[in-house]
Amino acid sequence: MLFSRCLVLAVACCAAPLVLEAQTLVPPDSVRRGEPAFAVYVPSGPGVAAADHVLTIRYADGAMSPGYRGFRVPAGASAGGLDVVGTGLPATTRRGPFVLFLVSVPVDAALGVATMSVFGPDGQALAGARFTIADRTFVREDLRLDAMLTGLRVDSDPVKTEQAVRYQAILSTVHPEAAYLSGGFVRPVASRRQTSMFGMRRRYLYADGSVDVTMHSGIDFGCPAGTPVVAAGDGLIVMAEDRIVTGKTVIIEHLPGTYTIYMHLSSIEVPVGTRIGRGELIGAVGMTGLATGPHLHWEFRVMGVACDPEALIGLDKMPSIRTILPAIEGR
Ligand SMILES: [Zn+2]
Repeated sequence: MLFSRCLVLAVACCAAPLVLEAQTLVPPDSVRRGEPAFAVYVPSGPGVAAADHVLTIRYADGAMSPGYRGFRVPAGASAGGLDVVGTGLPATTRRGPFVLFLVSVPVDAALGVATMSVFGPDGQALAGARFTIADRTFVREDLRLDAMLTGLRVDSDPVKTEQAVRYQAILSTVHPEAAYLSGGFVRPVASRRQTSMFGMRRRYLYADGSVDVTMHSGIDFGCPAGTPVVAAGDGLIVMAEDRIVTGKTVIIEHLPGTYTIYMHLSSIEVPVGTRIGRGELIGAVGMTGLATGPHLHWEFRVMGVACDPEALIGLDKMPSIRTILPAIEGR
């Protein structure tokens, strides 16, 4: 019951306890391992910037998530399920504007009850709420690599190292002002044929007989070379370059610390710095870099943690803002 999640803060002031107005944090009801989810925080009044709020998750085993920055839906946005306006409610209420958070649950997160906490600009705890981490099964696959592809993956190369360092630096960058996303994702290619799912436990069988086990951190769409690839959501192009391992690669920033990645393209149509809209062309499917056939590797990372981007397509697989807001208003 949502009302029970309200947290009333009592603070000592002038020796007498003072009860502040209730502040509410609405978590998702349940999130599966490896999936993203939204949480909504309703401040007691206007004034503090959304990006000055940080949300953390403590999992059942005590492990802590990174801090997720708050954001607001860009003004005028009306698509997909993040639209506060589209719910028929005013964007601001007498309790102040909503602060949204997009969180990412790792594939190996501890199952059971987890706790979310929201902190204000001075690091003070503002609200807390509980939600459940549910299980999800991930399939396994073996991928046999010939000598050439084995070399591409295992040989050390200073250029590869430099590219990897820069790639990680981009994905770990958190711009508090980056709030471009105004709705759910669209599929980046027209094809629904997935040749490798998110979260697959993948064994690379190298040409020399050795084996490496990894987690497939994205979705592979198998489709013909030249198939148009579009931006999954509104954002800013922060990488558009040819890399040794991932081939021609585009990274789009959507929210603070939140990125989608498109790999193995045959061509790139957008330079770094371009503001891109959901569904707009960014390039074409190819097999550049480490690829055994033409496909799009599509990846989604929030604060560095890979999670399943399919969960944001249409926003119909998780409790969305649309279902959450009337519950807040109804209390
Ligand atoms: Zn892939």
